[in-house]
Amino acid sequence: MAIGKVKGCCNLRETVCYISIGSNQGDGRQNCRNALTLLDKVPGVNVLTISPCYRTEPVGITEQDWFINAVVELKTSLSARALLREMLNIENIMGRIRELKGGPRIIDLDILLYGQEVIAEDDLIVPHPEMHNRRFVLEPLNQIASFAIHPAFGISIRGLLERLSDNRIVEKIT
Ligand code: ADP
Ligand code: MG
Repeated sequence: MAIGKVKGCCNLRETVCYISIGSNQGDGRQNCRNALTLLDKVPGVNVLTISPCYRTEPVGITEQDWFINAVVELKTSLSARALLREMLNIENIMGRIRELKGGPRIIDLDILLYGQEVIAEDDLIVPHPEMHNRRFVLEPLNQIASFAIHPAFGISIRGLLERLSDNRIVEKIT
């Protein structure tokens, strides 16, 4: 029997990924829900688990509304690049306008982890280069994937959270 054709096994070409989702314009919670609905409809993408939602203090530009943040686990047959393209498309469909780097956004979708791949290209860096520095990422991720390993550091999400020095406030709201 050929590799990839193991009877009763799931599709071996699917990759488990973790995506962060955030919004601080309009109804943030509803925006996150809408983005997830759109993401799950993309052919080759299946949303598996959604973390609780968090209300979080902004990073960088502090003079803006607090964010709603969550993370999702999905499995996909898409490449990381194709997945990113679909995510940027959803941001556009939902009306995201990029004015200020780090400024307010109706929706932001970032790839945190794509299996155990390490990608360093101009427009695609995986694992996300800031994920290990951000409480608003690690707290929700720890709720659904504390065991997942950051492939560049070889440290679990729980381990990254234990080492984290980010003191910005994140409040679980669901
Ligand atoms: P940010 O999320 O850093 O606030 P944007 O959402 O405006 O900024 O994204 C800017 C660009 O970052 C995207 O067009 C994308 O090409 C690039 N990028 C690089 N790595 C990633 C990643 N892991 N997830 C999402 N976008 C990424
Ligand atoms: Mg982004």
